[in-house]
Amino acid sequence: MKFADLHLHTHFSDGTFSPEELAGHGQRLGFAAMALTDHDSVEGCTRMAEVCGAAGIEFITGTELTAEHNGTELHLLGYFVDTQNEKLLVDIARFQAVRQDRIREMVARLNELNVPLEAESVFALANCKSPGRPHVARALVKAGLCKSLDEAFERFLKKGRPAWVPKARMSAFEGVELIHQAGGLAVMAHPGLNRTDDVIPVLVDAGLDGIECFHTKHSTATSAHYLEIADKFHLLVTGGSDCHGFSKGKPLIGTVKLPYEHVEKLKAEVSRKTVEPLNR
Ligand code: AMP
Ligand code: ZN
Ligand code: FE
Ligand code: FE
Repeated sequence: MKFADLHLHTHFSDGTFSPEELAGHGQRLGFAAMALTDHDSVEGCTRMAEVCGAAGIEFITGTELTAEHNGTELHLLGYFVDTQNEKLLVDIARFQAVRQDRIREMVARLNELNVPLEAESVFALANCKSPGRPHVARALVKAGLCKSLDEAFERFLKKGRPAWVPKARMSAFEGVELIHQAGGLAVMAHPGLNRTDDVIPVLVDAGLDGIECFHTKHSTATSAHYLEIADKFHLLVTGGSDCHGFSKGKPLIGTVKLPYEHVEKLKAEVSRKTVEPLNR
């Protein structure tokens, strides 16, 4: 049986693994295919493609975009995107600039709370163009200002906590369109985490291609629920670990094994979409 993990992060966003380390774990665990889905970034894809190639793993380009619909945050996975697509790269650069401004704002809020963290220490630790809250949490722990990442999120960074800053987000419609114009398939990430069931039919009308039914934080019942929804709306099914590195001493990759038949269906759909315009 062949398996895939289609939701993975590296240090090109808020993961801790390099592409080499991630592909190494994928090879050790026997994955046939992997997709890289760094937040608002496609920068790691070139290296990931090379190292997966050397490890005999099929690589699928990807990204995870933050979007919203009627005030609800949702994450859109874009698979098979052309990582050289001009509009995608321009828009991603803008999202990254917003992320960097947001780090400064979160640090300013922490300073107001008499937590003496410096934005530069977060940027130095993140060492990437797409920094996020996990980097702030790690910098707080490194500076001895919090005992753990959990404490940093619980006290300061979770939604509604005093240093939480909402992220400026594009609309989900724009997100789907951005992925499509880059030749990709648009998939709603971890619907069970964002409670976005009401949005699914709306996005299906806007051209959503799939939903992530299998995810580390989806229970068996949650996965079954989204498999039903996928069936009802004729959506493709995806899944992945959402690995950001080690979690409780173990790499998270390996917790979700997506049967390879779903990768076949994704590939069939992407080639149908690429070929069809030529036949018109
Ligand atoms: P951001 O994109 O900056 O809003 O950060 C979102 C990322 O933070 C997610 O992808 C998770 O990796 C991480 N995250 C969100 N909530 C928590 C939490 N309560 N504890 C630990 N990590 C979290
Ligand atoms: Zn993340
Ligand atoms: Fe996400
Ligand atoms: Fe993710």
